[in-house]
Amino acid sequence: MKHLALHWKILMGMVLGLLVGYLMKMWGLQSVVVDWIKPFGTIFINMLKMIAVPLVAVSLIVGLADLKDISKLSKLGGRTIVFYLFTTACAVSIGLLLANLIKPGHFINESSRQSLLEGFAGQADEKIKLAEATKEQGPLQPLVDIVPDNFFGAMTDNGSLLQVIFFVILIGIGLIMIDERRSKPVVDFFKGLNDVILKVIDIVMLFSPIGVFALMAALIVEIPDFSTLGALGIYGMTVLIGLALLIFAFYPTLLYVFAKVKPGRFFRAMSPAQLLAFSTSSSAATLPVTMERVTEHLGVDDEVSSFVLPLGATINMDGTALYQAVAAIFISQAMLPEPLGLETQLMIIVTTVLASIGTAAVPSAGIVMLVIVLGQAGIPEAGLALIFAVDRPLDMCRTLTNVTSDAAVAAVVAKSVGLLHDPKLEDAED
Ligand code: ASP
Repeated sequence: MKHLALHWKILMGMVLGLLVGYLMKMWGLQSVVVDWIKPFGTIFINMLKMIAVPLVAVSLIVGLADLKDISKLSKLGGRTIVFYLFTTACAVSIGLLLANLIKPGHFINESSRQSLLEGFAGQADEKIKLAEATKEQGPLQPLVDIVPDNFFGAMTDNGSLLQVIFFVILIGIGLIMIDERRSKPVVDFFKGLNDVILKVIDIVMLFSPIGVFALMAALIVEIPDFSTLGALGIYGMTVLIGLALLIFAFYPTLLYVFAKVKPGRFFRAMSPAQLLAFSTSSSAATLPVTMERVTEHLGVDDEVSSFVLPLGATINMDGTALYQAVAAIFISQAMLPEPLGLETQLMIIVTTVLASIGTAAVPSAGIVMLVIVLGQAGIPEAGLALIFAVDRPLDMCRTLTNVTSDAAVAAVVAKSVGLLHDPKLEDAED
């Protein structure tokens, strides 16, 4: 057991969790799972989140100080943003293409349409209200939101990762600009702290098989009944085909062409982070593990990963973007008499890329931002009720895609600046 690779242990935890959750549900023992098993899942997610902000802050300071040259930072930043936008735009286009080809909205009959619209109207309303606050903001509000008025305020809020990144970049630039005799003790301190935090992540990960076991068991007993799933099967499949294309064709090609990384090496390195993203539905909670895997196992220098990955967790969401595109077209096909015109679909590409950037890296954030995409394209927002029943499993899969994309871009950017090394650790050692 000791030598079993981490991803096998996590996978076993997931399968056992699904099994136990299913049996408990069958025996009517849901409350036992909620009271006695689910808390361990919550503890596990809390431990990951607890370490995320310190890790981002400390590793970014160390990474920036190591750059030694500010022009390197702007080169890195520019490439990262371009690649992130490029992959997201490709993801949305794939989503639109598939939804127009498969036409999932035409597979839903009138009676299931009505029962879904009625059954999930309340939940849809809730999300629409949540999105309202975002809609009322001015166009430059996202820019204003990046600058914290109090750094410690930003540090205490897991949703303010971009603010932490902003402040830490300034500190990093300051460290590069001052005399090395002065900066060295500061950098050395943070380097030590960085090693400590990475060790803490290792400790937390020892608990991961139990954590995912609890998360999966709780998921099964809490998920709504699958009786309405049939009508949504084709829609769900369309999203899954799109995500699979990204994971198994698009990123491996990108990695091979731009970074000379073979798929085997990539998936061996990233599978524990991918499984965790799937179990937690949160790229933010997965971030510490993504960073550890990308640096230690994929071979991306931490000068690159410490900057590219936290940024990616907050702004790069290819899986979410693809899902939003498919969902928008699906709802329009099910609710509108006429298909959407080319112009509207092109506009959906732009709004979806922006919406996915604004989506928080937490469970079911994608469906809130979808409200904005629907509103912009003139698709009835109440149609959100149609897709609720299958949102959680799709959320798990799109989060896995989001994390995969961050890691792939990190490797490509690292290669482009000569900072992709041979992996330090063998898989057997994890
Ligand atoms: N759960 C996703 C993530 O954290 C966001 C979403 O699509 O809801 O990456």
